[in-house]
Amino acid sequence: MAAAADFLVIGGGIAGLSAAARLSRHGQVILLEAESALGYHSSGRSAAFYHFGLGNALVRGLTAWSRSFLETPPAGFSEAPVSTPKSALFIATAAMRADLDALHADMQRFTDTVLPIGPKKMAIAFPAIRLDGDDPIVAGLIDHGGRALDAAALLQGFARQAQTQGSVLVKHRLERLERSGPGWRATTEAGDSFTAPIVINAAGAWADHVAEMAGVSPIGLQPKRRTIIVFDPPAGMTVRDWPFIKTPGDVFYILPQGNRLLACPNDETDTAPCDVQPDEYDIALAAHRVEQFTTLQIPRITGKWAGLRSFLKDRTPVAGFAPDAPGFFWLAGQGGFGLQTSPALSAIAEALVTGSEWPEGMSELGVTAEAVSPARLI
Ligand SMILES: Cc1cc2nc3c(=O)[nH]c(=O)nc-3n(C[C@H](O)[C@H](O)[C@H](O)COP(=O)(O)OP(=O)(O)OC[C@H]3O[C@@H](n4cnc5c(N)ncnc54)[C@H](O)[C@@H]3O)c2cc1C
Repeated sequence: MAAAADFLVIGGGIAGLSAAARLSRHGQVILLEAESALGYHSSGRSAAFYHFGLGNALVRGLTAWSRSFLETPPAGFSEAPVSTPKSALFIATAAMRADLDALHADMQRFTDTVLPIGPKKMAIAFPAIRLDGDDPIVAGLIDHGGRALDAAALLQGFARQAQTQGSVLVKHRLERLERSGPGWRATTEAGDSFTAPIVINAAGAWADHVAEMAGVSPIGLQPKRRTIIVFDPPAGMTVRDWPFIKTPGDVFYILPQGNRLLACPNDETDTAPCDVQPDEYDIALAAHRVEQFTTLQIPRITGKWAGLRSFLKDRTPVAGFAPDAPGFFWLAGQGGFGLQTSPALSAIAEALVTGSEWPEGMSELGVTAEAVSPARLI
């Protein structure tokens, strides 16, 4: 098979699909995904929660801009809601107090829904919070603006939009990417070939690998493994309305999802791009942290998985044309915030790829083309 398009997107995770959805308004898009399912790697293994408790100021700006899309996506985007309200409770032991105060100041620049909350009210919101013992929780912040995201609904919604003027092809692993006239020729493992003047590199943990295939300078992307365990609350306990809980810094979070609980020890282990699996040590650490910060016991772990979060050295994502390769657009480094920032990053990709206006309201949030440019990394 051979086909030509206006835009070739590599990667069928949230980054590639959201960009393809936007670009399909401007021309023919072909998206190539190596696996047999969209979102098979990072996007399908996320905790899928929207909050301001992670990342730097630029990430918070992208998160704030994305909010209206995630609350009210365009008509027909998805039959199921792509997000539902769920509060976020940030907790601190005495030693974490200063970090909690710093987090509060950082979050206040982007949202006015974060308020200090005392131990009694924390215990009403999340009855299993550990308020006594050796190193109890002494302070908290509650954000009623948190949201549980539906990753599958987002992926499918973007895929549907992309297919209005294009093709989303799974089981199409890119094997070669080379110059073809003023544009690019992509050849898959099966020998199919696709040409386009512009290629969007949204290959997640493999984005540097795709650049190297094309003879483009890599940008130093580092995939890091993160682990989640799943367990049930004690019989008779209903947790579905409890908030998401997180400590400041990278220590712990727990997320009620339906009537089960997801817990994460916020591990960050450098890993080569791969189909990553959970490690026994991180599983045990997750269980230990549950008992450290809550009064919950885990008689049985009912599920576990690991996924890759890929970072650049400044932990800021990249969206922009490679300075050393015309027509080669980087869209990578979404770390642990790729779902909640996908509306903003795809709008940036659309603006830069098509030369259209910078998204309204983004500069006011401190998000500029320079800040996300790959030029800073090469
Ligand atoms: C445990 C965990 C919890 C998380 N929690 C949250 C959260 O609560 N909120 C949030 O916003 N984010 C969260 N994230 C982060 C989020 O999941 C990522 O930032 C996001 O999924 C990255 O999307 P992506 O499209 O760049 O990568 P991916 O989803 O990995 O997509 C890249 C795709 O490129 C494909 N590809 C690679 N090479 C090739 C090739 N040669 N040919 C064709 N295709 C190729 C891959 O198969 C893959 O499907 C979490 C991540 C993890 C692991």
